[in-house]
Amino acid sequence: MNLVLMGLPGAGKGTQADKIVDKYGVPHISTGDMFRAAINDGTALGLQAKSFIDKGELVPDEVTIGIVRERLMKDDCQGGFLLDGFPRTVAQAEALEQILTDMNKQLDYVIHIQVDQEILIERLTGRRICKSCGAAYHLIFNPPSQPDVCDRCGGELYQRPDDNAETVQNRLQVNVKQTQPLLDFYQEKGYLRNINGQQDINQVFVDVDKLLGDLQE
Ligand code: AMP
Repeated sequence: MNLVLMGLPGAGKGTQADKIVDKYGVPHISTGDMFRAAINDGTALGLQAKSFIDKGELVPDEVTIGIVRERLMKDDCQGGFLLDGFPRTVAQAEALEQILTDMNKQLDYVIHIQVDQEILIERLTGRRICKSCGAAYHLIFNPPSQPDVCDRCGGELYQRPDDNAETVQNRLQVNVKQTQPLLDFYQEKGYLRNINGQQDINQVFVDVDKLLGDLQE
């Protein structure tokens, strides 16, 4: 199964990626993870990528497309793969089509985990961190027993500045603007499958799994 996974921050893409990989054993190819690993290892790619990532910009297409092409050629991808964080631009999506054509393959599905922006804002702004021990809470999904007090150490909880509503909203808006042309591209190609990400995590996976089950018949 040759898959691309898409979804805005907070949509639960990471959780679904883990579940897909667990059940189907396809390699999880996250360009963000690849860049972070390269930065940690201090490779030439890492150095190149770091300047863009630190500024919050996209790494140039030719660099990103190059590492994805190389990765997809590896043996473990021959039975399928799950791309996450790539493509991020239409140029990358077109390059992916070309890479797959060169490999005599094609995409099966682009799985889009869909969640309304208001719900994403609620999810993303609910995070609270303990000032003393760093424990993470969520006002809705994992609340502390007493408001603003850490269950683990009694420390004071705070909201990270980049989790405030305005910053989160801006981050989402930038993402929506980036993503829409890709969704249109894949809709037109017939690969796009929208999954309702507003359900319970396990139910979201039931829906994803239904789709993937079809591929195995
Ligand atoms: P992520 O973990 O997917 O949010 O990626 C972290 C950072 O890596 C992004 O903010 C970009 O700077 C860079 N990056 C990841 N994937 C791509 C991509 N497909 N194209 C360009 N830059 C990327």
